[in-house]
Amino acid sequence: MITVLNKCIGCGKCVPVCPFAAVQMIDKRAVINEACTLCGACVQVCPVDAIIIEREDPIHKDFSAYKGVWVFIELEHIHKKGKAAGTTIQPAAKKIRKVAYELLSEGRKLADTLNEELCAIVLTDKNTGYEKEIGAYGADKVYLVENSELEEYNTDVFSTVLVALINRHKPGIFLYPATIMGRDLAPRVAASIYVGLTADCTALSIKDGLLLQSRPAFGGNIMADILSPNSRPQMATVRPNVMKLSEPLGKAAVVIKEDIKIDKSIKRVKVIERKIVHDKLSAKIENSDVIVSGGRGMKDINKFKVLEQLASSLDGMVGASRGAVDMGFKEKSRQVGQSGTTVSPKLYVACGISGAVQHIVGMKSSDIIIAINKDPNAPIFNVAKYGIVGDVHEIVPKLIKAINKRVNSR
Ligand SMILES: Cc1cc2nc3c(=O)[nH]c(=O)nc-3n(C[C@H](O)[C@H](O)[C@H](O)COP(=O)(O)OP(=O)(O)OC[C@H]3O[C@@H](n4cnc5c(N)ncnc54)[C@H](O)[C@@H]3O)c2cc1C
Repeated sequence: MITVLNKCIGCGKCVPVCPFAAVQMIDKRAVINEACTLCGACVQVCPVDAIIIEREDPIHKDFSAYKGVWVFIELEHIHKKGKAAGTTIQPAAKKIRKVAYELLSEGRKLADTLNEELCAIVLTDKNTGYEKEIGAYGADKVYLVENSELEEYNTDVFSTVLVALINRHKPGIFLYPATIMGRDLAPRVAASIYVGLTADCTALSIKDGLLLQSRPAFGGNIMADILSPNSRPQMATVRPNVMKLSEPLGKAAVVIKEDIKIDKSIKRVKVIERKIVHDKLSAKIENSDVIVSGGRGMKDINKFKVLEQLASSLDGMVGASRGAVDMGFKEKSRQVGQSGTTVSPKLYVACGISGAVQHIVGMKSSDIIIAINKDPNAPIFNVAKYGIVGDVHEIVPKLIKAINKRVNSR
């Protein structure tokens, strides 16, 4: 229930921020009509705390209206490669991030178990036929919000739109990517509608009709299974490369256009300029098919650099264990593992890495893992398809030589 208290000063700030035109000023006082979805946008802007929302006791709430599995589809701008650091760039065309397909693949399984619909949520300035690609990965419907204010990600705008959609359609489950965008957006939505959020899930399933959210806890030493029985939607984030992609089905999803009013004044952050930071640093390790990672066993930063040669001869990128990052051998953006990036390349070469559980969780779904370690009992060999026991400083140069010889003889 929403109430306007007598202390309302009639400033009118709550009127333009309401996405549903549910607030009017009558006799210098805010009056809220039946279009209100309790999104809370007006509560946040009231300078005298005159608007209050009282929510139902969640334990006794009836959730029967909440149905369907939703996936937030993250769109990323595609910028041309090879631009010098410092170059100013304009917003470019967008494409769906691969993690969205991974979430749809997993969402399909959950929706099938529940016998409910899988819906994709697309917020964009213009739709360029995303429904074909989204349908191919199992979505039944696409809820599409098209608005020029959605060209670029903005926390206030995107979260307000999602809250409006949730209140309108009442999904049972809502999945987000654990990317920079998803990690910013999902908590904001969760806080706005007073629901829980499980971050960085590594497995999802249905237990007694509820979403069972599994994630590593206590430094990766145990797996925690989390249920959210007292709130809807049940919300979770999942990192890129954790869920397996399904085979595309070749069907298109039904598009449902949603009309949601967006008031520019809710934006508290404005993009002034976009600049290339550095091509090499901004290249994402999670997108590389080949990763050569080094650990503390590489000994020092100069010896670590030989891995760049091995990676380049395999057309891949260099990653690192946290041990190596802590020693300053590589920047943090290249750390693989629980507190770094989760990767699943075609080939992962682990050089001088012991294979701590926190490292393994970030790379174990790679297609082929090769480990080089002088300790035959190193745990990394438990997940490796091929293991080489020996001194990494002798083996890596030999590997580079052999690969280059083979490439040159073609
Ligand atoms: C909350 C938390 C989060 C964490 N997150 C991450 C994470 O995201 N990623 C991560 O990697 N770690 C993470 N860690 C740290 C993790 O527990 C390990 O400490 C770390 O992975 C060890 O890095 P390492 O394997 O490079 O070093 P070490 O464990 O020191 O292993 C070095 C290995 O190199 C081998 N070696 C030494 N010399 C040679 C040589 N000449 N030739 C061949 N082999 C050699 C040794 O036999 C050894 O196996 C986390 C820890 C915690 C508590």
